[in-house]
Amino acid sequence: MTENAAYEVLLYYKYVRIDDPAAFAKAHLDFCNQLGLKGRILVAEEGLNGTVSGPIDKTRLYRETMHADPRFADMPFKVDPAQRHAFKKMHVRPRKEVVALKLNHDIDPHQLTGKYLKPAQFLEALQDEHTIVIDARNTYETQIGHFRNAILPAIKNFRDLPDWIEKNLADKKDRRVLTYCTGGIRCEKFSGYLIQAGFSDVSQLDGGIVTYGKDPDVQGKLYDGKCYVFDQRISVPVNRTEEDVIVGHCHHCGKSCDRIVNCANPECNKQYICCEACEEKYHRSCSDECRCHPRNRWAQEHAHGEVSVAR
Ligand SMILES: [Zn+2]
Ligand SMILES: [Zn+2]
Repeated sequence: MTENAAYEVLLYYKYVRIDDPAAFAKAHLDFCNQLGLKGRILVAEEGLNGTVSGPIDKTRLYRETMHADPRFADMPFKVDPAQRHAFKKMHVRPRKEVVALKLNHDIDPHQLTGKYLKPAQFLEALQDEHTIVIDARNTYETQIGHFRNAILPAIKNFRDLPDWIEKNLADKKDRRVLTYCTGGIRCEKFSGYLIQAGFSDVSQLDGGIVTYGKDPDVQGKLYDGKCYVFDQRISVPVNRTEEDVIVGHCHHCGKSCDRIVNCANPECNKQYICCEACEEKYHRSCSDECRCHPRNRWAQEHAHGEVSVAR
């Protein structure tokens, strides 16, 4: 996929004070539009979280311009070569927080966060039998890939993670804990929360799964399946060793599969795993109710084409 890549997809964040997020967002949107970038950026008083795509000369200019701003001078960019844009539109939105946990007092990662582990250190720690590994992502992300033997909290939203931890892992507070997420931004707060909650030895994967998958020494070892990403690619490979496996099963037929689709019911829109045969058979719908919805997108897409649809 890297041959002739004329585009790049960038993933980046920085916890840093931004005084007027609304004004910053407005100016930043203009800047991104001038460059012809597409993607999603969240801006809050606590920092910035973004993922954008664009032609290589433009994404490079974007990186240089951001690094020229003292607030973002040391902000790491995860860079993936691409053949095309990975987003349809460009959004820059002011928010209260860049990521939110349901806490009475929010965590400032500059004050409280877990130890940062580089990919090689994380791989070594993973293999220690006294370690527990907690995936800080949501179920729709973990269903297509995760670190081997990781604890996968059954949550739909990051903000529900603290409750889940208190209900399920309260007796593990003396264990060595490792956390990871896609790019690292959620773990900065989550690991701080774990320390606040009384866990004694907490570390986080610096740069997240995306950085781990690019590291030439670890080669994505002990990660099974793919990494869910928040753009049109839906997932990216991680494990570059012989052990690459498919994690996940078709929601309908149970076949081994990691193909994620959006339910065709516009009011459901759930992302779920569905094989090609079942997409056709169930009209890309997660339930009978969704399949029969009057505005089912699959039905609309197939209504005027050559494909005849039994209704
Ligand atoms: Zn199927
Ligand atoms: Zn549905």
